[in-house]
Amino acid sequence: MKIFRKGKLSAADILQWLASLRGNAYVPESGFPVTAVFRARVQGVDDYYFAGVNVENADHRISTHGEEGAIAAMVVGLGKGAEIVEGWVMGAVRTAPPESDNLVTCCGKCRQQIAGFAAADVKIHSVAINGKTSSTTVGAFLPDVFTFRQFLADAPATKKTATSAPSAAEVENRLLRQAKLTEQEIFAWLQKIESVDYASKVPQAIVMQLDNGAYVAGAKVEEAAFNGMNAAQCALAIAISEFGHHKITGLWVYSGTLTLSALQALSSAAKQDMPILLFDIGGKVAQELI
Ligand SMILES: [Zn+2]
Repeated sequence: MKIFRKGKLSAADILQWLASLRGNAYVPESGFPVTAVFRARVQGVDDYYFAGVNVENADHRISTHGEEGAIAAMVVGLGKGAEIVEGWVMGAVRTAPPESDNLVTCCGKCRQQIAGFAAADVKIHSVAINGKTSSTTVGAFLPDVFTFRQFLADAPATKKTATSAPSAAEVENRLLRQAKLTEQEIFAWLQKIESVDYASKVPQAIVMQLDNGAYVAGAKVEEAAFNGMNAAQCALAIAISEFGHHKITGLWVYSGTLTLSALQALSSAAKQDMPILLFDIGGKVAQELI
């Protein structure tokens, strides 16, 4: 799997990983791939690594950034209790040569989203293609941050659950499946995916099948300043980070229906007349067309 690794990585491993994912970014508008890796902790285990690329949309506000792609994978893989404990980001024009020393820093929107999952002393590193690195902390790049922690008792930093830290195989199984699935298997999978839904209290997860046969999951990832991702953005960010841009051939949602912004997020990858299968809480399916 290209977007998830478990077990401590060196700076050289991270550099190679960030560079290797640049080709997967979907950047028809900017031509500027951004790749990100976050090391994450859940239940005291802190050697889960998630990677993401940027995914652009004709409606620019629906686009997701590299850091958001990595957050999408982290939430689907580890659930809403996951915390970012270190981060790395690389960005340069598509044609940048191996000796490029361009350092990109996280944009304001990504700083806000990272801070929702990270303590102030968490280090974020800008990494150039040639390996040059510059480091800062979440507290330095976004002081006085507004997050769910300030007004919700069950927000990520304070959430305690009884479940143990998942194995690498469990994390992979939440993110991605390759073998053909029945409707019941997809429903069971959707029920295991946790959303970050502290504002709405309404979870939503999505499974999409791609034209390469793989299935990818996504979850709603809300953010305190309402800069979050809907489940379709999340799944598409994970799918494109893993495989590059592919057409979607199937869509299953639990629960509710998709918002217009979710449909817009899917517009570059889904056919106009494609059915969406909507599960209710009992697993019963209704069908809508995109
Ligand atoms: Zn950004």
